[in-house]
Amino acid sequence: MNRDIVIVGGGPAGAATAIHLARAGLDVCVLDRARFPRDKACGEFLSPAATPLLEDLGVRDAIDAAGAKRLDQVTIFGDDQRLDLVFPNDRGAPPWGYALSRRTLDAILLDGARSAGAEVREGTSVDDLVFDRGRVIGVTTRGQDGERGSIRARLVVGAGGRNCPVARGLGLQRRSRRRRIDLLAHWTTNGDPADSQCELHVGRSGYVAAAPVEGTRLNVNCVVSQAALQRSPDPTLVYDDMLRRSPALARWTTGQRAEPVVATDITSLTTTSATTDGALLVGDSALFLDPFTGQGIYLALASGRLAAGVVARAFSTGIVDHTALAEYDRLRARDFAAKERMSVAIQGIINRPWLSRRVIRGLRRNRELATTLAAVTGDLTPANHAWRLGFGYQLARAAI
Ligand SMILES: Cc1cc2nc3c(=O)[nH]c(=O)nc-3n(C[C@H](O)[C@H](O)[C@H](O)COP(=O)(O)OP(=O)(O)OC[C@H]3O[C@@H](n4cnc5c(N)ncnc54)[C@H](O)[C@@H]3O)c2cc1C
Repeated sequence: MNRDIVIVGGGPAGAATAIHLARAGLDVCVLDRARFPRDKACGEFLSPAATPLLEDLGVRDAIDAAGAKRLDQVTIFGDDQRLDLVFPNDRGAPPWGYALSRRTLDAILLDGARSAGAEVREGTSVDDLVFDRGRVIGVTTRGQDGERGSIRARLVVGAGGRNCPVARGLGLQRRSRRRRIDLLAHWTTNGDPADSQCELHVGRSGYVAAAPVEGTRLNVNCVVSQAALQRSPDPTLVYDDMLRRSPALARWTTGQRAEPVVATDITSLTTTSATTDGALLVGDSALFLDPFTGQGIYLALASGRLAAGVVARAFSTGIVDHTALAEYDRLRARDFAAKERMSVAIQGIINRPWLSRRVIRGLRRNRELATTLAAVTGDLTPANHAWRLGFGYQLARAAI
């Protein structure tokens, strides 16, 4: 079977790419091994800059109707220090971000892809890439009944997340040596948690992130080193221990834990290039940053939009080769390279409790810098712009 574009993975990156490309009149087929709605390990807080992207994708009404929370503040706790980061309201996007369970959000986005005209095949795994003289020309598939098949396409888009078979088949991913594990569970409260903020609790063994999502659901997840799990292999024991270490978290866990604790590898990864002849990568398959700054869904939607612009232009000229797709790599470097540097810098701070304590103290004194931090982590100010204005240097000075 021959298609214009096959998208491997129907998460936020794949769905956003599909919506833009189907709207451009291209023949798009999305393959996902899961059947939606499905769960996905995530802190479930979208940076404020994701809101205009969701509007553009035509899914905001559905997200509001699903009861998504709007969070306008991130509070960071480090030992005895507390820092309230409020999103600024003068950056062209609302000063709040949505919080919604991925089960609901991803199903809404994939419905958006169907409505835009893409064909969506759920329950279809992609095993491998098909090559012809070094060029990707399609994928091999496996249905839930085990039936095998293949689809040829002029372009294969890898949107399969951290373990995307397209990225694996091309050997493009580079994983950080600092192995990190996330331990996640939802909790229910007895009433509707009216809070409009999420919290980050930074400690010696890692950090805990907590956010209310729709209804009475709370998302409470911990990030620890892989070594912590090797010392104590039961994820629930490590999770409970992390929660006990931050007394201020007690108000999040007064109700019931709604499910077993799930452990997920969240080691950062990047790629040297996100394009090759016949294929390109979007979302986590090309770049996964530590979720402390909570920007993965924004990056997934933004990379889908960037990729779709380049791909639609290439199809309109009839030349869909590596040279045409390389424009996407240039745009990614422009938009995402500084974000990656910032994430590494913030990791360097939160992995050293003495330093995070000092930086929090410095940011409490320098509200302007704190607002810049909120704007950059909320993607309301481009990281490269802030970096050029000396944001990294000022953050380092805040610790003195
Ligand atoms: C613990 C954790 C906490 C996070 N917290 C946040 C947060 O609070 N805010 C935020 O913005 N980001 C957060 N992120 C990051 C965010 O989850 C990702 O950046 C986002 O999901 C990326 O979207 P994606 O579409 O690239 O990949 P995914 O959402 O992973 O979607 C990939 C899709 O591909 C499908 N797939 C995979 N393999 C195959 C295959 N072989 N064949 C067919 N289909 C396949 C999967 O079923 C899936 O539906 C967090 C991530 C983790 C792990």
